[in-house]
Amino acid sequence: MKIHFDKITQTPKPFVERQESVVFEGSLSKKETHRVHLVGTIEGVIEVQCDRCGILFDQSLSTPVKLTLSDQIAEDKEDLDIIEFLNGEIDISFILESEIVAEKSEYHYCNDCGKLEEAVEIEF
Ligand SMILES: [Zn+2]
Repeated sequence: MKIHFDKITQTPKPFVERQESVVFEGSLSKKETHRVHLVGTIEGVIEVQCDRCGILFDQSLSTPVKLTLSDQIAEDKEDLDIIEFLNGEIDISFILESEIVAEKSEYHYCNDCGKLEEAVEIEF
């Protein structure tokens, strides 16, 4: 789903984006001339790989998302959460995909390895 920057006003505009078994729900509102705030949540189930034994398993997600979007190159480089959409279109599908990729790249342990991990922590 793509939403034009020009269509966003100060009144939050709700959106829902689905991808496989994940739902990204939230709203967009204009903060400044070239800044749009996105507030939402990603919920659902993604398939991740256990970092210890390598099996694939389902991981349920409930991730709050807060981003600032800009249709200009961000001058304030300290604000790392700014995503630039220089063609003036906010690509919600792209944001969701990036969040899923980020989530998948984190460490995950399957149930069995998770238990093992806890047991090791208790020993120390
Ligand atoms: Zn495992």
